[in-house]
Amino acid sequence: SVSSHGMQRRLFSRSSRCRTIMPAWVIDKYGSNDVLRFTRNAAFPIINYPNEVIVKVFAAGLNPLDIGMRGGYGAATMSMKRDPLNMKQSGSEFPLILGRDVSGVIMECGLDVKYFRERDEVWAAIPPWKQGSLAEFVVLSANEVSHKPKSLSHTEAAAIPYVATTAWSALVNTGGLRKDNCANKRILILGGSGGVGTFAIQMLKAWGAHVTVTCSQNAERFVRELGADHVVDYTAGPVEEPLGELEKFDLILDNIGGDTERWALSLLKPWSGSKYVTLVTPFLQNTDSLGVADGMMQTAATVATKALKHLVKGVHYRWGLFAPNGPALDEIRDMVDAGQIRAVVDETFSFSQVPQAFDKVEKGHARGKTVVEIS
Ligand code: NDP
Repeated sequence: SVSSHGMQRRLFSRSSRCRTIMPAWVIDKYGSNDVLRFTRNAAFPIINYPNEVIVKVFAAGLNPLDIGMRGGYGAATMSMKRDPLNMKQSGSEFPLILGRDVSGVIMECGLDVKYFRERDEVWAAIPPWKQGSLAEFVVLSANEVSHKPKSLSHTEAAAIPYVATTAWSALVNTGGLRKDNCANKRILILGGSGGVGTFAIQMLKAWGAHVTVTCSQNAERFVRELGADHVVDYTAGPVEEPLGELEKFDLILDNIGGDTERWALSLLKPWSGSKYVTLVTPFLQNTDSLGVADGMMQTAATVATKALKHLVKGVHYRWGLFAPNGPALDEIRDMVDAGQIRAVVDETFSFSQVPQAFDKVEKGHARGKTVVEIS
């Protein structure tokens, strides 16, 4: 199989390298932190399509999704994406490599790749159904990849792509915001101090919006330094009370979920196209518990019911979902290099400390991002 592996790589790329293994952190089953295993013998990624690139990983960013996926969250949907015809046995995703953010250098390009060449410095958010960045190399589609900001180190760059493309999907694609329509808008971010929040504050401020944020009292200075105009401490009591006394909002980005849906939509300006966009959705739980087909039906029914319930009150209810997006990363890179957005790295870990890095993310209370330095 070693030689067929090499043959397949030569079909879609010019390289004649024939390395077949690499160091990586993998899991062989779902569970708590002790399922993480370091190996020097993970399969070297293969270019399976001519639009793919292999990236040498310099830094990998972690997200709460990695903690979820380590425990099997989303497994039903991910295995459907990896194996749509359901040809493989269950468990065929193992050994699974986690890590959704990458900053690194292109090592090899497929034959159709036009915008990248070997040795280009790139960053990307890796879709959850693909092998992740806690490895020496990762294979990605060229349309998921973007040239990284020159002003950032690889460690800093790995703190941005997943939360940034998620915020972009929620605010731009779902929320309808753009750099030229934010000037008079009032935006509320529920949960401003974590990965998505710290990025969203900066992007919206760069676009001229007025930004109100909820966070813990001890994060107030931190979010103000990122540009937040008004801060409400959620640890002081129910936030809906102080928020309810403020002028109403044009858009709410909810990074918290739970019972926020019960009160947040009443904080929106009615009958003026205002939107509530939540990132905390039951989409993957539904497919995990009901199977992909029934889970999707349940999901569609839930979101349709909720959207209708709020539409009759003059506000829009939407779900925000991560989507890989190289072109959005290009625009974000330009904002970073123009000094409008900075990387917010909470803590860095070495490649040997991956379990400690997971521990840190799992404990919560993030102030920006956790990043693993690979090489
Ligand atoms: P992080 O863990 O980086 O940040 C969460 C932040 O929220 C922490 O700073 C935490 O700090 C703060 N917080 C916790 N409770 C509250 C509260 N009640 N009110 C205000 N702030 C609070 O998470 P991310 O930013 O990466 O992600 C945010 C959410 O979005 C997660 O639930 C994640 O799963 C989801 N998500 C969904 C995606 C999708 O595709 N739908 C994609 C990406 C993320 P402290 O506890 O100290 O206050």
